[in-house]
Amino acid sequence: MVQYDMRYYSTRNKNEATGFSTAALTGLAPDGGLYIPEEIPQYSTAVRSSLGTMDYTDIAFETIYPWVKDDIPRPVLEEMVHSAYPFNAPLVVAGDRLVLELFHGPTAAFKDFGARFMARAFSYLRRAETKPLTILVATSGDTGGAVADGFFGVEGISVTVLYPKGRVSPLQERQIAGLKGNISALAVEGSFDDCQRLVKQAFGDADLKKRLCLASANSINISRLIPQAVYYAAAAGRAFAGQVDPDGEATPRRVQSGRGSAETRVPSGRGEGITFCVPSGNFGNLTAGLYAWKMGAPIEKFIAATNINKTVPDYLESGTYEARLSQATLSNAMDVGAPSNFERMAAHFSWEEMRRLVMGISINDDETSETISEVFTRWGYYLDPHSAVGWRAVDKFQKAGKTVIALTAHPAKFAETVEPLTGPVPVPPSLKKAMDRNIEARTIRAELEALKECL
Ligand SMILES: *Cc1c(COP(=O)(O)O)cnc(C)c1O
Repeated sequence: MVQYDMRYYSTRNKNEATGFSTAALTGLAPDGGLYIPEEIPQYSTAVRSSLGTMDYTDIAFETIYPWVKDDIPRPVLEEMVHSAYPFNAPLVVAGDRLVLELFHGPTAAFKDFGARFMARAFSYLRRAETKPLTILVATSGDTGGAVADGFFGVEGISVTVLYPKGRVSPLQERQIAGLKGNISALAVEGSFDDCQRLVKQAFGDADLKKRLCLASANSINISRLIPQAVYYAAAAGRAFAGQVDPDGEATPRRVQSGRGSAETRVPSGRGEGITFCVPSGNFGNLTAGLYAWKMGAPIEKFIAATNINKTVPDYLESGTYEARLSQATLSNAMDVGAPSNFERMAAHFSWEEMRRLVMGISINDDETSETISEVFTRWGYYLDPHSAVGWRAVDKFQKAGKTVIALTAHPAKFAETVEPLTGPVPVPPSLKKAMDRNIEARTIRAELEALKECL
């Protein structure tokens, strides 16, 4: 048997361990569980104390390497993080808050961070394979675009994206169904939960298993989560050191920065453990944050901000986990009633431990719209509906000073919701390009047989 330094086992069976390569390429463990690390790597003291000053790609290397070192050699990983991250995650002051802008990648949502690393890792790990790989991915909106963009044109890999018909924005649909080539789009007559169920069923289907080499690219895939831990460590390091980045050009701000700074203290987390507020749906992003915390980044707590799909906030309150059907909201990428990464969180933390570390809060659509208008009127800063859920959630806690809000998407991506409240939102070039694409998608019933016919 191969010996791994870094072993991953199923959330449902501690005895069946494997290495990074298998965990990444299969996505789901054979027993239907999610892969989690046996032991979480720790930052060295030297790295931990320089998180505030290191380059993003250096933090990416130091964060990811211990998780993948059995399968990806140092120089290969160095090259991967450089080509994956020509953009980074600026920590900026917006009004009276510290925000982490995670939308500077090509599809303008945080999912680019995971998807771009994953595409490079898959391509490397399969360098000796001849059988083509089919990636199945269910999306509530943004995952599909990021995965499609990340894998577009990668030889030997095709991607099939399942999205809930009529429940993603027109721009998201163009990002998913506009690339064509090795990317196919399926519009499922149902909800995101249906899409997710179909993908799970496909993985359990013996006939498909024989016929195809299948992999998943959802946040059940550990190779997407690991690179997301990077921006938490980088932002916590900088906030802890009292440093913020200058506004990037793509920062959606109408007025010059500094407006309003006379009336409020510019926030800084200097010398304190940082609280991250994370707008959450499937809880991949939050789980990645928990990994950064476990690795030793200067993080104190998390706020899990959801829309009315509040399965996890309710669990944190009551100790009882009850999956539900999802309800449609303005923050559609978070319309998840049965968050798949909860299984990971519960494997790492008891209810009491989770409650000490994560505060849950649910925000409704009225509050979301109000927040978008108010923040724009007061600070000239544009929020997308998901980020607005995060902003509003922080209002309900007192410690705004050392809280960093993860902004998960660029507001132009959700213009149909944002613009009626703020007027026209400046559109970044990557989104302009996507808007010009024609879409090509097949509509299918939310049944395994219908999906199988398309594969
Ligand atoms: C995917 C997504 C979320 C939810 O992230 P999870 O990792 O599923 O919790 C929030 N906001 C946006 C814009 C997203 O695309």
